[in-house]
Amino acid sequence: MLRLHNVTKRFEEKTALDGVTLEIAAGEFLVLVGPSGCGKSTLLRLLAGLEHPSHGEIWLDEVNITAASPRQRNFAMIFQNYALFPHLSVKDNITFGMRVRREPKAGWSARVAQVARMLELDELLERKPAKLSGGQRQRVAMARAIVRDPRLFLMDEPLSNLDARLRGDVRDSIMALHRQLCTATVYVTHDQIEAMSMADRIVVLDQGRVQQIGPPEYVYDRPANVFVAGFIGSPGMNILTLPCERGAIALGAQAYLLPAPAQQRDSVIVGIRPEHITDDLQGTRQLLCLPATVTQRELMGADYLLHISTPIGALRYCRKNRGDAPRVGDSLSIGFSPIDIHLFDAQTQRALYQETPHAFASDTALTGAHLYRLAHALRQRAGEGEHRLHVSGPG
Ligand code: ATP
Repeated sequence: MLRLHNVTKRFEEKTALDGVTLEIAAGEFLVLVGPSGCGKSTLLRLLAGLEHPSHGEIWLDEVNITAASPRQRNFAMIFQNYALFPHLSVKDNITFGMRVRREPKAGWSARVAQVARMLELDELLERKPAKLSGGQRQRVAMARAIVRDPRLFLMDEPLSNLDARLRGDVRDSIMALHRQLCTATVYVTHDQIEAMSMADRIVVLDQGRVQQIGPPEYVYDRPANVFVAGFIGSPGMNILTLPCERGAIALGAQAYLLPAPAQQRDSVIVGIRPEHITDDLQGTRQLLCLPATVTQRELMGADYLLHISTPIGALRYCRKNRGDAPRVGDSLSIGFSPIDIHLFDAQTQRALYQETPHAFASDTALTGAHLYRLAHALRQRAGEGEHRLHVSGPG
């Protein structure tokens, strides 16, 4: 539905966005995520028409809207500070845009009533914003956006002013609304957990450049480079630069034979997620094992996060079973499976994946959303060879 082609935005010397190309499908919930200053708000403002690109184009369906004004685009923006008028009631805030656009009054009340019901604001229509909670104010801001029936919602960190509990509630209302309206949405956050839980696809930005685009599971399982590997996931991935010799890395008494793309190197960057390390070495899986000493133990609710020192460096891992968890100073053996190791080029920092055919098995029915995500995952890897998608099963 919407395409950005090679969009660059410069503010004098500063390049805020550098050659961004991406597509937003109709009905899609796209989340832009990245650290402070990576260009998220600039990208959203370009989409809104509040700024214009220095280079590149923005297309809506078959129309080039690069130079179009905000009004011509019919996109609705929802900000973190709600931007409500304090002297107007909830109802007048919601209908403000209709009033400005001089829309015929006849249709107003039915639309306001419908949207107020959807967002559970029916009882609050006569109140002023000062007498609302943060979550209610954000719902009014959403209601005001929805009555416009926009082509696209643009949301700039809409949960960041809310406390943890309310954040969950408003996030649920945003997702419920999205399921109901199916309006394409571009949602900005610096919180990767929020991004993973809400997105159909995530766009990871750093220093104005797109680092990776894909469904959350794909970005988590196959980060495209060291930045994405470290940014996505909490607690973060363990990342170590290790020397290689004759196509292998020495891991204590064992050697990890590098897959083909990583052979013939002097060193390689290795990533291991904390949840893939275990101190339960029983069982049938083939594990690479290391001796370790516990240096710190953090309670994370259901789990402990253990910091350990090992012959290859400091690592962190999640200990699910708290009952007999090791304590600071204890010596133990830890292990991880070779298939859970991520490898990155030490110079370019790009992932070195062994491309094997992917099997996708599901004991639940494949839905349209599954197929959609698969198609995106395959398209992202287009050009790396031939991909076939076999779908079988009832329906
Ligand atoms: P945050 O999460 O902190 O809001 P962000 O990812 O939204 O950050 P942007 O606000 O898009 O980042 O800014 C990207 C870069 O462009 C920053 O380095 C910022 O200082 C710079 N920048 C943004 N707007 C302007 C401007 N009007 N003039 C000059 N530089 C700007």
